[in-house]
Amino acid sequence: METHEINKRFLDFFARHDHTRVPSASLLLDDPTLLFVNAGMVQFKPYFVGEVPAPYPRATSVQKCVRTGDIDEVGKTTRHNTFFQMAGNFSFGDYFKHGAIKQAWELLTTSQDDGGFGFDPSRLWATVYEHDAETAALWREIAGLPSDRIQYRDAEDNYWDMGVPGPCGPCSEIYYDRGPEYGREGGPAVDEDRYLEIWNLVFMQELRGELSPKKGHAPIGELPQKNIDTGMGIERVAYLLQGVENVYETDLVRPVINRAEEFSGRRYGADHTDDVRFRVIADHARSGVMLIADGVTPGNEARGYVLRRLLRRIVRSVRLLGVHEPVLPEFAAVVRDAMAPSYPEVARDFDRISDVMRLEEETFLATLTSGSRIFDLAASQTRDSGGTILAGDKAFQLHDTYGFPIDLTLEMAAEQGLAVDEDGFRTLMEQQRQRAKADAASRKTGRGDLSVYRNLLEDHGETQFLGYTDLQADARVL
Ligand code: ATP
Ligand code: MG
Ligand code: MG
Ligand code: MG
Repeated sequence: METHEINKRFLDFFARHDHTRVPSASLLLDDPTLLFVNAGMVQFKPYFVGEVPAPYPRATSVQKCVRTGDIDEVGKTTRHNTFFQMAGNFSFGDYFKHGAIKQAWELLTTSQDDGGFGFDPSRLWATVYEHDAETAALWREIAGLPSDRIQYRDAEDNYWDMGVPGPCGPCSEIYYDRGPEYGREGGPAVDEDRYLEIWNLVFMQELRGELSPKKGHAPIGELPQKNIDTGMGIERVAYLLQGVENVYETDLVRPVINRAEEFSGRRYGADHTDDVRFRVIADHARSGVMLIADGVTPGNEARGYVLRRLLRRIVRSVRLLGVHEPVLPEFAAVVRDAMAPSYPEVARDFDRISDVMRLEEETFLATLTSGSRIFDLAASQTRDSGGTILAGDKAFQLHDTYGFPIDLTLEMAAEQGLAVDEDGFRTLMEQQRQRAKADAASRKTGRGDLSVYRNLLEDHGETQFLGYTDLQADARVL
């Protein structure tokens, strides 16, 4: 079943059950607590907390989401995209647990001929919050789930919040057993690769403050009414229904892998390390296009920096596949063709999107070219002096001045039969991080002048910015 069809079936099903269809909000919805929209409920938050009366008792949407926290998982797990589509049904003081479970079960298990997704009920599992026997009983009653396919889990897994103050509540998740060839027996509490999480039903009934109930703190209050917020991962359902191995091989993501195969002459599926690169390229190309479509441009701060990091990770991955020509506009066109049927803005605004990508790639390639000269010099000096290890300060200089990610340096060194003093590199990175922390602290206490700092940033480019984000993480991922 194609992704667009999954998307449509979900909305049609809930529309038939009296839900108002609500379009996806922009990824940049104005919520000061979030960099990007990361769940379907974000645009409904005022209705949950009672700030604004809900204009409808029930709603359904397929929301564009970006989760930057998942960036390190991309390509390595089977299930994490940076951009993905979260399908959801919402009740604002209308139905509660019973209705949420009944409808989710019906949509998942109704045959495809009758408008459902046709999942085999004997492969589905549910998890419930450790204090929520009521929900476990509902799963037995409504779905006929046997007790040994209902698992109790603690707040870490089954209490949902936005990661920031706001509405929250216990949740119940639905998992699909991919089968013994994918891992260990024993349900999602044992193995989350074999048992794939597809849908989270959140019983949104409480309010958290600075401290999260997840960490053992009591909620600061009850919401004015009991609500339902659910999130089903469209890409995850697609990966199961399309008989492929992961979210990157689904119909809307895979075409970029195919294009990257053509560019590189390498085959997806032939080598594990290359495969991760192919998946990163396909995932990030899509996220890049969707972010630019919603108005983000590459930069050195906040949202712009996330986009820059995604785009540069593509360029770096492509290079590690042996391709040195510009590729981003080509990938953007592939993404446009896949995504435009659901997101026409991508086609409408394509020239601009493509230009932004082209420019960012040119800038980064220029950086790579000047960095490569420095690298070659350092490599020949190392060899001339009889060494086999490139000094840590050289690797640091390449990163700091030329924006060279460490794994690129490692790869280039390996090509020349050299190792790199990674410990030395990391020590210098840590020292820089400490300096930046001190700078940031002085800015916070008002001792630093922000405008001066901004000028510095502009003069020195991203290296200054990297200083006050997580250097280690950036070194790994850029
Ligand atoms: P996981 O434990 O697999 O990281 P999660 O518990 O963080 O998922 P939720 O916050 O419960 O996910 O989000 C609701 C649903 O959205 C999930 O059940 C899943 O189907 C989907 N989803 C979450 N994160 C991603 C992602 N990075 N890529 C694709 N789909 C996702
Ligand atoms: Mg997660
Ligand atoms: Mg989870
Ligand atoms: Mg979850």
